[in-house]
Amino acid sequence: MATAEERREALTGVWAAARGCVRCPELAEARTQVVFGAGHADADLMFVGEAPGANEDRIGRPFVGQAGKLLDRLLEEIGLDREEVFIANVLKCRPPGNRDPLPAEIENCSSYLRSQVDLIEPRVVCTLGNFATKLLRADPTGITRLHGQDEVRVLGPRAVRLLPLFHPAAALYTPATLEKLRADFARIPDLLAQPTPEPPTPEPAAVEEEIVPASPAPAAGGFEPPGEEPSQLGLF
Ligand code: URA
Repeated sequence: MATAEERREALTGVWAAARGCVRCPELAEARTQVVFGAGHADADLMFVGEAPGANEDRIGRPFVGQAGKLLDRLLEEIGLDREEVFIANVLKCRPPGNRDPLPAEIENCSSYLRSQVDLIEPRVVCTLGNFATKLLRADPTGITRLHGQDEVRVLGPRAVRLLPLFHPAAALYTPATLEKLRADFARIPDLLAQPTPEPPTPEPAAVEEEIVPASPAPAAGGFEPPGEEPSQLGLF
């Protein structure tokens, strides 16, 4: 079992790989920078949005525009703040003109999100909007039908409580959607208070995945990827 520090170190390694990613040539060409995600590297609660927009692409952090402000407010209403959770997106690069992510881009980027979930080990994962919900549930059912209905889902080697939510951007100018989003958010503390879902029973032949830090773990609390300040990645 990897320690929290080892997982954080490995997460830094995934970020380093993602920063130079050119799996989607159009996105790599158009982006200012990769928006890997930010927050607590050992968070119990993780949010997964769609893709960075113009502000996120410029600043390098997820949800820094109006939708992000709403997300912060909803978190505050349930007694949490951004530094306690981890926020990521399905795509780590901004689609030009904020168009929808393409299926090939989602596929290309999915290994980064998978690694994030594996390494952060959240107990509750909230998908924001259709793209994240469909990807993590591996099912085309849309958010309008699923929002607010939590379920235990196996993601990688672990089970998590997954809660589909409307995307905050959809709630910005639609009061009825905001009220639904707020009501669904109110379920989060209860989900966090529930015991960790049982992990799936391993197949007899399954090889246990080992998380090996890229280099010896730094002293407790130290997070210094070469040439980068911790604040640039936004890991807490
Ligand atoms: N919308 C998203 O889905 N993600 C962001 O990071 C910002 C807006």
